Parts: sequence; structure tokens; C-alpha cells
Amino acid sequence: MLPRPKKRLGQHFLTDRHYLDRIVAEIDARPGEAMLEIGPGPGALTERLAPVVQPLHVVEIDRELAAALRERFAPGLVVVHEGDALEFDLSALPEGLRVVGNLPYNVSTPLLFHVAAFAPRIRDCVFMLQKEVVDRMVAEPGTPDYGRLSVMLQYRFAMALAFRVPPGAFTPPPKVDSAIVRMEPLREGRRTARDEALFTAIVGAAFSQRRKTLRNAVRSLVDEAAFARAGVDPQRRGETLSVAEFTDLADAAGA
Ligand code: SAM
Repeated sequence: MLPRPKKRLGQHFLTDRHYLDRIVAEIDARPGEAMLEIGPGPGALTERLAPVVQPLHVVEIDRELAAALRERFAPGLVVVHEGDALEFDLSALPEGLRVVGNLPYNVSTPLLFHVAAFAPRIRDCVFMLQKEVVDRMVAEPGTPDYGRLSVMLQYRFAMALAFRVPPGAFTPPPKVDSAIVRMEPLREGRRTARDEALFTAIVGAAFSQRRKTLRNAVRSLVDEAAFARAGVDPQRRGETLSVAEFTDLADAAGA
């Protein structure tokens, strides 16, 4: 029997076998892999992944669900970390970590940023999220979905929508469509900003005032000379800049 879902914890449990099979196939777990599942809930994915990777690490905030998982799975099969995934130190797990899960949608954006901070240690992520969030993650410059989330994640990851999942696959059904996204950290040779805090500030400012020209939106961070050095027209809007152009602008502003 499924536990009574708690809305405030974004609990929508995956109950459709067809979609469970597809997600398990997309993750394609192999023996010996280091794997973390975020938000295992009652364990629909957990029970499929744990026997393969042995042990599967899981982080679950719901005390009752965490206790039930501990009771059901031996520690050699599932290591239950009870707590907030937003505070979970992924560097405590081995490098080459794979991170998976049907994420709690109410904290999906901060969770993505939290996981992204550990990108160098991560092999890949396979997440279920609101389709609308996945659309923003993979959006291209100049499209309505392109924004801060797209730039900040595309700066670190190659990402692709794997497939959509309808509300009826969950109990209770969420109000929105969902999708599986695969994220792979960019490796050697990737373009990085010299000052990542400045890059982050410029991207944030550029999208906090979407209608403004870049000149006005990032006025306090980038002067005219820096625009010229970066070869970026200050009359453009932030939503038209590629990730590489944001990086150029940050490097020029910090020079
Ligand atoms: N994986 C399960 C499934 O597919 O049936 C449950 C998915 S449900 C969408 C999200 C799960 O994340 C819930 O079990 C919820 O308790 C847990 N959760 C919510 N917020 C969390 C947080 N901040 N840290 C860790 N787990 C969280």
C-alpha cells in the first residue's frame, strides 16, 4: 500500500509500470556504479536500482518514508540518508557519481543548482521533472523558454529531454506534464568564466529584467568598454546571448 502523500513535500509517486520500466532502462544501472537517488519515496525506483548497484544511496526528507526504506532494505543494498537533499554533501560519495530521481517538483530548481555545484564529481544525472522546467533547461537562445536556468545549467552540462511522462503515471497525478532529462557534465576543454561569481551575477541581472537591453540590465556590472572587448552589442537583450557570449562578457567585465 502507498503511504498517504504529503503535498508540501511534492509527493507524487510513480505507479505506472510502463513508465517505471522506461526510466529504469534510461538510467541503465550497472554493477559497481556509485549512484544516489534523490527522493526515493516508497521506493518504486529504489527496488529496481538497488539490486544492481549495491549499495544504492538514497536521500529522503520524509522521516516515515526513510524509516520504511531502512526496514525494507538491508544496508548493503540501500544506504538511507534521512534529510534535505538541498543540504546533502554529494562529495561524501565516490567520484563518477550517477544521480537519479523523480525529484520533488516544489524544490526542483534549487535542487538542480545544488547538484550542479558538484558537477566535476558527477558522471551523469537522470531526473524526472516538470516538463516545463525541462523545456527551460534545454532551451536555445532567442526562444521564450531560454533564461537563467538554461544558461547556468548549459554552462556545466550537456542536456537532453529523453521522454515525456503524463500525469496519469503518478499517484496522485500532478497538475502538470513531466519529462525525463539526462544531464552530462561538460568535460575537458569546456569554456569557463575566469570569475564564475561575476558570470553568475551578470546572467542573473540580464534575466531579472528581460525586457531591458543588456546595457541597462547589467549596467552596474559591465561598462561600455567591456561590451566592446567582448564584441557584444549592448543594445541586445539577454535572452539572445549564447552561453559562450555570456562567458565572454563576464571575462571582459572582469578584465
Ligand atoms: N521516487 C518516488 C517515486 O517516484 O514514486 C517519489 C517521488 S516524489 C515526486 C518526491 C520525493 O522526494 C518524495 O518522497 C518526498 O518526500 C521527497 N522529498 C521532498 N523534498 C525533499 C528534499 N528537500 N530532500 C529529499 N527528499 C525530498
